[in-house]
Amino acid sequence: RKLIYTFNEGRSENKDLLGGKGANLAEMTHLGLPVPQGFTITTECCMNYLDDAAFFEEQLKVEVLKAIQNLESETGKSFTSEENILLVSVRSGAAFSMPGMMDTILNLGLNDLRVQAFAKLTNVNFAFDCYRRLLQMFGDVVYGIHKEQFNVLLHQTESRLNKKVTDFNEAEHLDVIELYKNLFLKNKVAFPQDPMEQLFEATKAVFKSWNNQRAKVYRDLHHIPHHLGTAVNVQSMVFGNSGEESGTGVVFTRNPSVGENKLFGEFLINAQGEDVVAGIRTPEPIETLQAILPEAYNDFIKYSHKLEQHYKDMQDIEFTIENGKLYILQTRNGKRTAKATLKIALDLAAEGLISKKEAIMRVSPEVIDQLIHPVFDTKKLTTAEAFAAGLPASPGAATGSIVFTAEKAKEYTALGKKVILVRQETSPEDIEGMVVSEAIVTSRGGMTSHAAVVARGMGTCCVTGCEALTVNEAAKTVLCGNHTLTEGDTISVDGSTGSLYLGEIPTIVPENDQSLQQLLTWADECAELKVRANAETLQDLQTAIDFGATGIGLARTEHMFFGEERVLEMRRLILAKDEQEVQFALNKLLSFQQEDFYQMLKTVQDKPMVIRLLDPPMHEFLPHDTNEIKSLAEQLNRYPSAVEKQIEKLQETNPMLGHRGCRLGITEPRIYQMQVKAIFNSAIQLAKEGLTVCPEIMVPLISEKEELDYIKNFLTETIAATFKEHQIEPFPYEIGTMIELPRACIIADQLAENADFFSFGTNDLTQMTFGFSRDDIGKFINIYKEKQIMQQDPFQVLDQSGVGELIKLAVSKARQTKENMMIGICGEVGGNPDSIAFFQQIGIDYVSCSPYRIPAARLAVAQAVL
Ligand code: PEP
Ligand code: MG
Repeated sequence: RKLIYTFNEGRSENKDLLGGKGANLAEMTHLGLPVPQGFTITTECCMNYLDDAAFFEEQLKVEVLKAIQNLESETGKSFTSEENILLVSVRSGAAFSMPGMMDTILNLGLNDLRVQAFAKLTNVNFAFDCYRRLLQMFGDVVYGIHKEQFNVLLHQTESRLNKKVTDFNEAEHLDVIELYKNLFLKNKVAFPQDPMEQLFEATKAVFKSWNNQRAKVYRDLHHIPHHLGTAVNVQSMVFGNSGEESGTGVVFTRNPSVGENKLFGEFLINAQGEDVVAGIRTPEPIETLQAILPEAYNDFIKYSHKLEQHYKDMQDIEFTIENGKLYILQTRNGKRTAKATLKIALDLAAEGLISKKEAIMRVSPEVIDQLIHPVFDTKKLTTAEAFAAGLPASPGAATGSIVFTAEKAKEYTALGKKVILVRQETSPEDIEGMVVSEAIVTSRGGMTSHAAVVARGMGTCCVTGCEALTVNEAAKTVLCGNHTLTEGDTISVDGSTGSLYLGEIPTIVPENDQSLQQLLTWADECAELKVRANAETLQDLQTAIDFGATGIGLARTEHMFFGEERVLEMRRLILAKDEQEVQFALNKLLSFQQEDFYQMLKTVQDKPMVIRLLDPPMHEFLPHDTNEIKSLAEQLNRYPSAVEKQIEKLQETNPMLGHRGCRLGITEPRIYQMQVKAIFNSAIQLAKEGLTVCPEIMVPLISEKEELDYIKNFLTETIAATFKEHQIEPFPYEIGTMIELPRACIIADQLAENADFFSFGTNDLTQMTFGFSRDDIGKFINIYKEKQIMQQDPFQVLDQSGVGELIKLAVSKARQTKENMMIGICGEVGGNPDSIAFFQQIGIDYVSCSPYRIPAARLAVAQAVL
């Protein structure tokens, strides 16, 4: 296999092999853009090297040598001699963008002799600036000598000479270089003077950076596989720091925060790329370049348009201007906020650049989740005290305790506290702390600084460049005007406006916005699976409908027995000492449920609603604490000791495998009878008022056909009696079953004979298939993940090969008995986008999930078809 590709040889479809950056450099070269020439060492080389270091010496080295010679002849420059000096950058670039997670070295090829020659060609200050940066980056990346150690030496020299480095003469520059080289020696290494040696070492270091801690964390976070490797791009250097007619910048072709179709970016005159990204100097907005270097600006406009048209997406472009001439160094599909993702997808469709279907595919379900996330309550905001403002780098609203380091962020969150990470600027080392923070605030850096880019990617609220803040990470204080805040103090951060507030501000969920409606309407047009909601409170039912649920897939009735007044009657029923007490409690419960069902049915109107009969084991309704038992005994007019004994008797060793679900319906039919009576009393009442509904009654935890037959029998009798009592012509209804036990899956054909519909309770089905308690898995799932025994929690993402196979079997068996039976999913994984694709494949009719997951699920069901 070919190990190295020149930019002339690759194309954008070689992303797996060349990485995103390499593929794009090749594509841009192909498009005729001014790209400094170079070559890409493939991702395969990275994995080969990481598997066996000998690969480099034995196979790759000679190819790199050839590639450099080729580059020399193409550019007419030399990488090794002291004339016509060629310098290169060495950059990582994986197939998936991982901003700042891996390493880069610039100005490679300088040494003690070449820097002199280079100084003659350009100027002393510039040449030594490049050399000094090379030593620092090389030391940091190749030998792990922290870059701060170099900065300290530079600052010491500046103070000693009492001038800035930009004013150093040659001898003074040489002094610093000497100090830097000595720092290498102190670390028992030497800076290689041979440019080829530098290139070899840098390449190996970039390969290795694929496996550094922050890169691994980033990959885990974004579900990027660990076996892909990074490509290495070797590119001839152009110099943005070669004078006042030079500069460098990062520009998005559209606004990455809100999606507006307008160039958005920043540049710095007389600077190298790292200066913009690192947030050390505060850059200027791109529009101002027009006045400073109009030709380069106009070229940039032309090329950025070309790139966007070509890639049919918003681009994030890095450019450098060297003595007035523009070079494009990099382009990629730009990272953006959820809001911008949606707007850009819709706009590109409206501009005819992409189709409706492509627009649907451009937005991930996670983005939808972010869009319906909370913002500050505007009423409360008017009385909140704003103490500072910065750039609105990533929208959202968050409250938390201030911390100043990634470590503290982790420590606090481990204790269950919410934190706001406040720093001068963030660096890739902070990634683990950033992940756990509610919001990120930096005093320096622009909209394209590390903090801003990473936060937008994660959907975390972020404010950057908040210059009024003086952050003292060592003293753990942040000063702003006359406010001094310390670690642990509570602040609130608005990432959409850039404002910071003292104390806590309540949040609310934003209005269902129009663009979102638009996209979801398109999604509904393509979708085959329907999306229902799991909801029972009136508020949740309404939210579900507002979010576009086509019906209710699961109303859990036990949630209706938990109010103080109601639980007392439930307890009375469970502990009843005679028939009279049973009847009293049942009548009370009947009247409560009747009112509930009336309101619920009225809320969902003619949409279908699956009502599940009582499921949990009885002891869940009983008190366990002595005082509570005492007061219950008083209310029931019994001896506490007697009540206590009875409760003890009801205890079970494995309640989840015990007396629950349909087993309760069989041992005590009167509860289920009462429930259906309540449902039909209210349905009949509504029918009389002119609203005819079709109740769908669902029986939980069936594992045997006779269970279902027995229960269905007495339910239909009760329902018939209820119609009769009201002297009304019976209207249609359905009685179905949950499938949540492995045995139920296996005998699904038999169950289908007497069930009108199925709904898979994947929570119990997962619990019973793995034998993992759904309430205790939290104790070990993280260790399972760390040890790579399991990639995901099967209660969150369907286990396709086990639980999924059972469901698939059950669906096919059920359809043998009843071809058109309605089959849904109502466990937690019903709202999980990855699982939804599987449900689509195996012929499920609908998924049901909690109300806030509905919008994302609507998109996911459409994407599952496309
Ligand atoms: C299930 O088991 O998946 C289900 C929906 O029921 P519950 O979570 O109430 O047990
Ligand atoms: Mg269940």
